Amino acid sequence: MINPEIYDYTFDSYRKLIADFTENELIPAENEMVQAGAVPERLVKRMAEVGLFGISIPRKYGGLEWNMEQQVLLTLEFTRASCVYRSRFSTVIGLCSQAILDHGTEDQRAELLPKMAAGELVTAFALTEEGAGSDAAQLATSAVLENENYVLNGDKRYITNAGWAHAFVVFARTDQSIPGAKGVSALIVDATLPGVSTSLPTRMNGHAEAPVGEIHLNNVSVPSSNMLGGARGGGQGLTMALRGINHARLHVAATCVGQATRILEEITSHVTDREQFNAPLADLGAVQAVLGECFAEVEAARALVMEGARSFDEGDVPRHRIAAAKLFASEMASRVADKCLQLLGGEGIVGDHPIPRMWRDVRALRIYEGSSPIHERNLAVAMIRQGKIDGRLPNSYRV
Ligand SMILES: Cc1cc2nc3c(=O)[nH]c(=O)nc-3n(C[C@H](O)[C@H](O)[C@H](O)COP(=O)(O)OP(=O)(O)OC[C@H]3O[C@@H](n4cnc5c(N)ncnc54)[C@H](O)[C@@H]3O)c2cc1C
Repeated sequence: MINPEIYDYTFDSYRKLIADFTENELIPAENEMVQAGAVPERLVKRMAEVGLFGISIPRKYGGLEWNMEQQVLLTLEFTRASCVYRSRFSTVIGLCSQAILDHGTEDQRAELLPKMAAGELVTAFALTEEGAGSDAAQLATSAVLENENYVLNGDKRYITNAGWAHAFVVFARTDQSIPGAKGVSALIVDATLPGVSTSLPTRMNGHAEAPVGEIHLNNVSVPSSNMLGGARGGGQGLTMALRGINHARLHVAATCVGQATRILEEITSHVTDREQFNAPLADLGAVQAVLGECFAEVEAARALVMEGARSFDEGDVPRHRIAAAKLFASEMASRVADKCLQLLGGEGIVGDHPIPRMWRDVRALRIYEGSSPIHERNLAVAMIRQGKIDGRLPNSYRV
């Protein structure tokens, strides 16, 4: 539950609270988390108390209702700590709550969102399948209407929070006769229903403390009223997912900036302290070139993310600008992590320094929420299409 006093905070005081929470509680517990192989439950409880599950949910539904620019500023703070922490609440604040907010019925909003904001109902977004990754519209999970219930069968994989979610937003084919996106609907599935099971991978390359799991649906029966948006949601599942996906993409871009910021703080401290050839590494021109270049990269990504957030708050979702921010920021985070790991020398490979862990973690950010090649392709397609219409670029700044 969110500490009730927080509802009276100004944004600046809330941001300071999250900065302090990151510095004093999340960062110091990183090695404990790695040793335990999971985010400590006491920290998940603290995340709920400080309101991290509710930052994007309207006050009417128990959340803190910060706008996108504010959410991004908060993300830049809490992702200075391991991005694994963020995974514990990211599916609630992004993909799931936004789809429910925009497309759920009033009953669905009133029932689900207050519990989500309080951190009492963790939701996972179940889209990806073995045969439907980048091409999500090929999904095969079926939801067949029998009397008043949909009966679901299928398997989802790589699902964030599959192991600890209380409910899933499952994308399933409700009209078997329609291939592709138009036959797909979104259904809210209670994780405790008979026929639902989950499994975790035995190994992860990064993000190991928040493993992405599989969800197995075997004749799972849910009331037809669980279709997102009610009956009018039929066949609209992937369209409904889009705003949440764009919301999440911008948060992922901000996460990349937060991670790269921490990496630069850590490496600046390291090269200042570490001496070779009778001088700090920081005195070497080659080292300074890396620091300066990385700083400029982080600043560029931060500017893209903030601009995307401000456009988002103006109304129309600037999806091409968001895709560009996500593409650039995620590639930037990997470049920065790799260059800074090099400056650690053997410490980049041996021991508990945070940079090698973050180097592995940020690699995933180039794969989920649209892999980099998919964003490149989609941006090019949009550019060519827009060019044919008016010779401009998508989400053009031109007046
Ligand atoms: C840590 C993590 C968390 C995740 N969380 C979730 C979640 O919560 N919910 C969920 O539903 N899914 C989740 N995913 C799944 C993620 O969205 C998919 O991994 C992603 O969409 C890519 O699908 P795929 O893995 O099947 O790769 P594939 O679709 O097989 O693609 C592999 C590679 O091929 C290339 N490629 C594919 N298509 C094209 C193309 N048209 N043009 C150019 N190159 C192309 C790209 O390089 C791509 O990386 C998560 C994944 C990870 C790693």
